[in-house]
Amino acid sequence: MPELPEVENTRRNLVRAGLPGCTITGANITWANTVKKISPPELAAGLKDRTIQDVQRRGKFLILPLSGSGPANFIVHLGMTGRLLVQSQSQAPDPLTRHSFPLDDGREIRFVDGRKFGKLWLVDSPGEVLPVMSPEPFDDEFTVETLAESLAGKKAPIKALILEQGIACGLGNLYADESLFLAGIHPERPGSDLSVDEVAHLRQSMIDALTAAYGVYDRARDQDWPNPPTAMMTWSHPRDAAAPCPNCGTTMTNIRVRARGTYFCAKCQV
Ligand SMILES: [Zn+2]
Repeated sequence: MPELPEVENTRRNLVRAGLPGCTITGANITWANTVKKISPPELAAGLKDRTIQDVQRRGKFLILPLSGSGPANFIVHLGMTGRLLVQSQSQAPDPLTRHSFPLDDGREIRFVDGRKFGKLWLVDSPGEVLPVMSPEPFDDEFTVETLAESLAGKKAPIKALILEQGIACGLGNLYADESLFLAGIHPERPGSDLSVDEVAHLRQSMIDALTAAYGVYDRARDQDWPNPPTAMMTWSHPRDAAAPCPNCGTTMTNIRVRARGTYFCAKCQV
């Protein structure tokens, strides 16, 4: 499932592809359930002759503000398997392409979505679609103090608290494990059990985990343009119960925390 690095990578890919400034000339929708609130023909009519001004992201939502009259924001959620590509209309599409949005320059945006959990909206304001979200690790308001406050009194395992998105937006299963590995914190520790130093270390580890992942994608984009990868292994801990911890050599441990597969080092993470 795309986590924050995959969605941010998609955003950067779209910007690099020069999407801002392009005008959409229509929409070919082959799976109507993807389109929310309005019908696919209404979406196509609403997008026609609209120029994309920017590619923004909030959490795992991609927001494309549009110029011209009509609803001002085209919003995309990649769901479990979605990918957004900008390719020439003459290039053979991936067979799992569900929707395409022709552009005025001979290219088109292609929404490849094997499992069809992606979502599309065309609305006046992102607030009509986006839930209330916690700060992201890079946001100014994501401080040691706010993180400590949100963990206070919480008996649930720290990993579960991270996944609930109530303390930081955008970290899924992989980056929750990576953050806890970098911080040296056992995933089953109760949230309220963390010391101030551990909270500070966890906050920095979340930022470091995402920064490293963005860097991996940035380098791959430069190297593989115009066909950058959309899913990479960008974490440092092995997700393999037979593999050694890169820090101490102890074999990694695999458990389930609230039904989510969890890998950690029983020696480094206490
Ligand atoms: Zn270790």
